[in-house]
Amino acid sequence: MSCKNIYITTPIYYVNDVAHIGHAYTTIIADAITKYSKLLGHRTFLLTGTDEHGQKIEQSAKKNGKTPQEYADEISATFRNLWNDFKIEYDYFIRTTDENHKIGVQNAFRKMVENGDIYKDKYSGNYCVSCEAFFSDTQLIDGVACPDCGKVTSVLEEESYFFKLSKYSERLLNHYKNNPEFILPQSKRNEVIAFVEGGLKDLSVSRTTFDWGIKLPTEMNENSHVLYVWLDALLNYITALGYGNNENSKMEFWPAKLHLVGKDILRFHAIYWPAFLMSLELPLPHHIGAHGWWTRDGQKMSKSVGNVVKPREVVETYGLDAFRYFLLREVPFGQDGDFSEKALINRINGDLSNSLGNILNRLLGMADKYFSMKFSSNSDIFKNEENEILKIISNLEDYMFKLQIHKYLEDIWEILSIGNRLIQNSEPWKKIKTNPAEVEALLNFIANLLAKVSILLYSITPDSSKEMAKSLGIEISAETYDKFIRKNEKIESFELKMIPPLFPRFEEKKNETIETKTEIVNNELEPLEELNGDGLIGIDQFTKTTMKIGKIVAIDEVAKSKKLYKLRVDLGEKRPRQILAGIREFYKPDELLNTQVCVVANLQPAKLMGLVSEGMILAVKDSEGLSLVRPERERKLGSKLS
Ligand SMILES: [Zn+2]
Repeated sequence: MSCKNIYITTPIYYVNDVAHIGHAYTTIIADAITKYSKLLGHRTFLLTGTDEHGQKIEQSAKKNGKTPQEYADEISATFRNLWNDFKIEYDYFIRTTDENHKIGVQNAFRKMVENGDIYKDKYSGNYCVSCEAFFSDTQLIDGVACPDCGKVTSVLEEESYFFKLSKYSERLLNHYKNNPEFILPQSKRNEVIAFVEGGLKDLSVSRTTFDWGIKLPTEMNENSHVLYVWLDALLNYITALGYGNNENSKMEFWPAKLHLVGKDILRFHAIYWPAFLMSLELPLPHHIGAHGWWTRDGQKMSKSVGNVVKPREVVETYGLDAFRYFLLREVPFGQDGDFSEKALINRINGDLSNSLGNILNRLLGMADKYFSMKFSSNSDIFKNEENEILKIISNLEDYMFKLQIHKYLEDIWEILSIGNRLIQNSEPWKKIKTNPAEVEALLNFIANLLAKVSILLYSITPDSSKEMAKSLGIEISAETYDKFIRKNEKIESFELKMIPPLFPRFEEKKNETIETKTEIVNNELEPLEELNGDGLIGIDQFTKTTMKIGKIVAIDEVAKSKKLYKLRVDLGEKRPRQILAGIREFYKPDELLNTQVCVVANLQPAKLMGLVSEGMILAVKDSEGLSLVRPERERKLGSKLS
């Protein structure tokens, strides 16, 4: 397969709102397709950014006592920070207040004027301030309300420049007809065609009622006009590549492979944008994908109800990969989806923990027990299963680029269940005594299967896929994609590495309405002797001790000591700490490995039996034995005790 330039865009997000689940959804889909394209060996360019002009921003800034630029700077940064924290691999973050963008837009406008597509006239129409759009009388709901957002419109008359949108009706309809996958999904395509067939009016593309926007080119001497925000915003897709502003242009990435948009802004992308491009004599994008909206627990999200899903909070609780997986798996692209913690936990426990995590654990467990983590086999005894898997893989690329990502994932889970079934049916724990060669062949098959799965899942759950690949001793790259996915090459021998469970199960929150019984025996508290006297400390003294949650990731015995274990405890730092703990008489290694413990983390390192110990594990000892102190529920590594 030849290397292509693949250009993928999210919408630029309007800076009148903070990021919610819808923004995260679009951006994560874009990131997934970009990562996938990279694995296929293509050159990619992922664009995201913020849309910062318009009357609404001018008004919001005023309300917040800021200049529009200050206001835009602030909100734009929250989007950029979120995408950085979500490890979105964007190549450029464009802002419509960037100088380069402004120059590019003005040059595009000049070109439209040159091509005879711009004229001046008087405009009177029903204007929606929220949507910054005019609507004809027949488009209004009940004669007054905006068809897009439902707010009451006002009649506005102004002098305006117009773009000859009507001139492009036929060309647009032909393009939809000749390119059935220009608009995805199909149902949305039909809506757009119906709209254009209903007749297109020329589009007012300048405003004189406010200032916060890009001025018309100076030679036009129209200082009171700023360009229509949608003209300004849509052009970001080419100004970001250098159109009209940069000699070292990246225009070789044009036309875009895919513009991802929410269904509310499809009309602008599927009608205005291609018409603008036709006027600029540029080729049209390959696909415009319109996704649906998210509700929460079956209800519309709104700031006033206070039920808006904040992506950062979800990720902090459940992890980035789980969130990515949920968004891409839960809803077929184009349909509306519902977010609930219950549904998310079901996906984590069911798909990620039970199916994916489980098969890896089984493999690692058996590899450890039967073969000391090393095995090889060239046996081809699972030919049927292998053919099934190859057949599934042959459809996957198409699913991804046609935005049927839920199917892509369904099929990968089919591969996993082939593996899980095979283990179940061949009962290696029995066969290991009679036919170890077959067990070795089985483990080799499962390890090869998981090598494929880790590569295929990389675009969806990048961090855990990398972990998984690491435990199998492979890398995830365009080369390994080519070897193991396209050419179906096998890894002949494995040396596996233990890793902590990939997706620990989440307990669903207990119903909070369960009555708690409290019996107040006595309102008066008897004095406690212990709470009197000089030995008491203040909270400041207590907080000098830093105690953190850690996970035991490796265990070794200390040769000369019957009491000590040498542990490696991961506190979420650059490397796990070495901690010596006198708990060998009370715990077997498998009761410790991959479990969480509480660690005093700011003790001076000490030497025991000639070995450095970089912390202390909390335990309780009494006459009957010893018990470690552990968090009741798993916590993030490095979380502080307080
Ligand atoms: Zn509106």
